[in-house]
Amino acid sequence: MNLTISIPESPERGVEVARSKGELRDALSEVRGAGGSIGLVPTMGYLHDGHLSLLHAARAECDVVVMSLFVNPTQFGPGEDLDRYPRDEARDLELAAEAGVDVVYAPAVEEVYPDGFATRVEVEGLTDVLCGDPRRRGRDHFRGVTTVVAKLLNSVGPDVAYFGQKDAQQVAVIRRMARDLDFPVRIEALPTVREPDGLAMSSRNAYLEPAERKRATALHRALLAVEEGARADSLAAGLGAGMRELQLAGIDPEYLEARDAESLEPVKEIGERQVLVAVAARVGGARLIDNIVIAP
Ligand code: AMP
Repeated sequence: MNLTISIPESPERGVEVARSKGELRDALSEVRGAGGSIGLVPTMGYLHDGHLSLLHAARAECDVVVMSLFVNPTQFGPGEDLDRYPRDEARDLELAAEAGVDVVYAPAVEEVYPDGFATRVEVEGLTDVLCGDPRRRGRDHFRGVTTVVAKLLNSVGPDVAYFGQKDAQQVAVIRRMARDLDFPVRIEALPTVREPDGLAMSSRNAYLEPAERKRATALHRALLAVEEGARADSLAAGLGAGMRELQLAGIDPEYLEARDAESLEPVKEIGERQVLVAVAARVGGARLIDNIVIAP
């Protein structure tokens, strides 16, 4: 059954909700037949302005915009926050409609992973470092991400898929997957949207108590300190300054590292290539990540 949600504020707009691959196919058959372009924005919902920036870009560039809304269990490790991950589908559908989304693909877990599901997509190398390090989230996290994104790309068949630079390693991994497996899609990465105080927007910010929310602003300050120190002195000095910024806020990060933005290989100095400076840290009840890219 296709559900049409009417939004009171803008009654002319509706968003079609597809719960199954069949409903999704039906919803997209017309645009596909007419040769129109399709943009896909994968999300786990609980939308914020970061998600909306992706939806607006898709709306501006594509004939039809599909947003997927799926809290993907296979990218959560044991003991992670799958059960308490924030969810508000009614609000997400309203925001999606306001952003001009045409179709929300919101399948149940069994639709995505039916009984007997046994196939996984894995990108080697890029998923062993940073968050993929076995001491951190581990490569299974990215295996969950690439498997579900591969399925979404196959189910939707978009011309363009939009991701946030906030999850820089995810972008690098998905780009590599799309290239290696010949997905006929353009992967578009858009800048991190931040709160006025610099905190990167994240659905997980909902876990932060007010005092933790304030401490969490140190992540972005630390990244800026790395860049400032690297430009003025050396990358090592910059990373030292970044660590001090975190320590001042009582944050002991999982990592604060500088790597080549594409290969994720370690770098010793900023210079000819784009350098990704990435941080991950637990602040109160939330595991937060953030990054900046230092241009040559
Ligand atoms: P999520 O719902 O957290 O899986 O995120 C869905 C998409 O939104 C991913 O491509 C994220 O990288 C992107 N995203 C999340 N937070 C931000 C942000 N603050 N700025 C830009 N994009 C974001």
